[in-house]
Formats: sequence, C-alpha cells, structure tokens
Amino acid sequence: FKRLKDGLNRSSSAISGGISSIFTQRKLDSETLEELEDLLIASDLGVSTAMKLTESLAEGRFDKEITDEEVKAFLATEIEKILSPVAQPLSLNSENKPHVILMAGVNGAGKTTTIGKLAKKYRDEGKSVMLAAGDTFRAAAVEQLTVWGDRVGVPVITKEIGSDAAALAYEALDRAMAEAVDVLLIDTAGRLQNREELMAELAKVVRVIGKKIENAPHDTVIVLDATTGQNAVHQVEVFQKLAQISGIVMTKLDGSARGGVLVACADKFGLPVHAIGVGEGIEDLDAFDPKQFAEALVG
Ligand code: GDP
Repeated sequence: FKRLKDGLNRSSSAISGGISSIFTQRKLDSETLEELEDLLIASDLGVSTAMKLTESLAEGRFDKEITDEEVKAFLATEIEKILSPVAQPLSLNSENKPHVILMAGVNGAGKTTTIGKLAKKYRDEGKSVMLAAGDTFRAAAVEQLTVWGDRVGVPVITKEIGSDAAALAYEALDRAMAEAVDVLLIDTAGRLQNREELMAELAKVVRVIGKKIENAPHDTVIVLDATTGQNAVHQVEVFQKLAQISGIVMTKLDGSARGGVLVACADKFGLPVHAIGVGEGIEDLDAFDPKQFAEALVG
C-alpha cells in the first residue's frame, strides 16, 4: 500500500491541494463546483466522471458552507463506490486445463512484466504455468518473456521472429494440454501502427484458441499504463474493437502516476480491474483495493 500511496502522491497532492484551495472558506456554489470539476478532469478522471461526482456533491448541499475535508471524504466515498464493483481478481477455473489468459495492450504498457508477475503468483500458489511469446514480431519481447520465464522457472513457448502468432498459440496450447498445465499466459503484439494487421492477427489467435478449447481464451486482459493518463481510455476503446476484452490490469501506479484514469476506466467501461502494477519487480503486482485506492487518490 505504501508504494501505491507514494505513487499516487502526485495525483493526490494535486487533488487534495486543489480541493483545499477551492473550498477554504467558500460555499458550494456553481463557481466552486466548476473549479472542482476542472480539477478532477485535470487529474485524469475524465469529463463524464468528473461531472457525475460534482453533481452528486451538489445534491442537497448546494449554496451551503462546506469544508475541504468534507469534500475529500465525499469524493473518496463516491470514488470507492465506482471502483468497488470492478475490483475482481482474475479467477482461475480449475476445470480449465489449461486456463488460457490472453494478454493484450500497446507496446510498453507492461504486458510482459505483468505476465512475469502473474506467472510468479500462480507458481507460488502451486499451479503449473506456461508462457507463450505471442508477440512474434519483436525479438526483444520474446527475449524478455524468456528471461521472466527463466526467473520464475516456467516454460516459455517461442517461435522464430516473424512466425505466425496464431500458429505459436496453437502449439503452446497443444503442449499445455498435453502436459495438463493449469495456466497458459499468452503474450500478444501491441503495435498499433498497423491496426488492420494487428486486428487480423489477434482475431486469428482468438479463433485458433477457441477451436481447440471451447470458451477459450477464458480471459482477455488489457494491460494499461497509468502514466499515459486519458490515453489509457482510448486504448481500451481500440482494443475492444480488436478483441473481447474481459478485464484490466493497470501498471505503473507507483511512478509518476496519473491514477485518476483508473477511475475513468472503471466508470466508463465497467470492466473488472484484476490487479495493479506498483513497480518493476516480480512481486510488484497488488490486488486492487478500491477503498485504499480511493483514499490514496484523494489524499
Ligand atoms: P510490454 O511492451 O507491454 O510488454 O511492456 P514491458 O513489460 O516490457 O514494460 C515496459 C516497461 O515498463 C519496462 O521497463 C517495465 O519494467 C516497466 N513496468 C512494467 N510494469 C511496471 C510497473 O507496474 N511499475 C513500473 N514503475 N514500471 C513498470
């Protein structure tokens, strides 16, 4: 929690300081509400969420005295209400052999790192894990995933650079089934420069997996970099067109976080938030705790 708190420090001190300067000895009127709304938008909560929050703050309190502490407490509670329904850890169904998790997201979002962290978590829980280096286009991605696999002690299925990603997924699935592996984590390409190509590739990967195991992939998780702010919202929209996204992991909430975007995503998409990345290390994947997050964000 300390890392998250430190990471969100920049967002929270902006929000907290902003609220204090808006609401010191002032009433809750249209002027202060507008200032608050601007502050929340600047903190990456998104326009519609910022409006919703300020409108509900105004209910019954409009034209009355209010303190900054009251505003903060109100916001923390309301943000927690937005976040609570989406806080859902990835749940593995043990009947799935393997349980197939497809990891999507733009390059640099933290996909490979998150796969490494998840692999470690599942290994620690005593599950057998296999990784598939499905970004067959980038040598660095394949190498990096192999490093994570070695570190955790789980096999990594790779093919030569430039191979068909769907063929790789097929082979990985074949092996995972033959070895009765519990969890298969499949990395995917994240280059958005050629969206058509990416779309075709992802669709083919999903199709191939679905042909081999009904209902698979069981999860298609998008990895989002919190430091990209509102761009993360856009990324979800883009990837929802490419694949049936079932959940979110948000990374880099330790760094110069713009954590408000997690609230924007939760409010806009209602997709489960499975976990949050709070560092580059193998243990730096936390369960998503809405109360802690809301409090850390508002400061
Ligand atoms: P990919 O291209 O989506 O596979 O992204 P990578 O997994 O290679 O991550 C890109 C960079 O972000 C690397 O330098 C990672 O160490 C870093 N990174 C990933 N997750 C986190 C996180 O939660 N916190 C921080 N501070 N860095 C992270």
